[in-house]
Amino acid sequence: MPSVPDHSAVDIERLISLTGRTAVVTGGARGIGAAIGRRLAEAGAVVILADLDPVAASERASEVAAGTGGSVIGVGVDVTDSSTVAAVADLAVSRFGSLDIWVNNAGIFPVTGPVIDADDDLIDAMMRVNLRGTFAGSREAARRMNAGGSIVNLASTAGFSVAVGISAYVASKHAVVGLTKNLALELAPMNIRVNAVAPGVILTPGVRDQLAPLAAAGLDVRSRLANNLLADRAGVPDDVARVVLFLCSDLAAWVTGVVIPVDAGALLR
Ligand code: NDP
Repeated sequence: MPSVPDHSAVDIERLISLTGRTAVVTGGARGIGAAIGRRLAEAGAVVILADLDPVAASERASEVAAGTGGSVIGVGVDVTDSSTVAAVADLAVSRFGSLDIWVNNAGIFPVTGPVIDADDDLIDAMMRVNLRGTFAGSREAARRMNAGGSIVNLASTAGFSVAVGISAYVASKHAVVGLTKNLALELAPMNIRVNAVAPGVILTPGVRDQLAPLAAAGLDVRSRLANNLLADRAGVPDDVARVVLFLCSDLAAWVTGVVIPVDAGALLR
């Protein structure tokens, strides 16, 4: 059984501080991943933004470093290619001395359309990125993490609900919810915590690209926004990043295996 320190006497600045820790955020060049990278860097972590496009990742890393004064680099990764995932995890350890935080954020959400027309290649692609990529990231991180490590997965409200036209995405995110809980079980003996966030609609470059195909598939994003209890607007990436920061920090040292909706209450409808 691992030993988790009692943090009761630790002051709030130290509890939220990530100084001395190295974090990897996949899909970190833009959208929610970039916002997570910024908050983790602001809290003091050395951050590696890993994305399909290494140039975009490096440019974003420079921006985040300039904005936070933190140490941030951008590298290439394809989460469907486990050898590249392992290389990023190795880089964290060889260059910065440890790997403490891994955020499985990279994800895709192409519209599958009606189930009876769903394309095998699209289903495979969704599972490879959203599910197997999360599995590979968690595995490679856990192999290198010390006790006290934290893994955070990007699930979705689609991990708890259903919608016409996005069946493969819904299946992949339900799977991420289950995987998060099983990873928490299996990695607890190493004192590695595994949690997830489940965002509602967050306006990101990826979502903007999908608004027209989603509408064509019969999924009216604007009517879904009306389900939000707090505001009839979409979320912004930082709404998610702040919750991920909480899960990565010692504020959540006694939390594992949970999936926190970050959806302005939409799932309650
Ligand atoms: P974006 O599409 O805006 O950004 C995703 C980033 O991930 C892009 O830079 C993309 O690169 C990169 N990426 C895609 N595939 C891979 C891969 N195989 N390996 C490495 N990087 C990859 O997405 P969001 O910020 O909107 O979403 C981030 C996560 O949050 C996803 O897991 C998504 O499912 C989840 N989520 C998002 C919600 C939302 O409303 N935005 C709601 C619920 C969950 P490139 O641009 O080159 O493709």
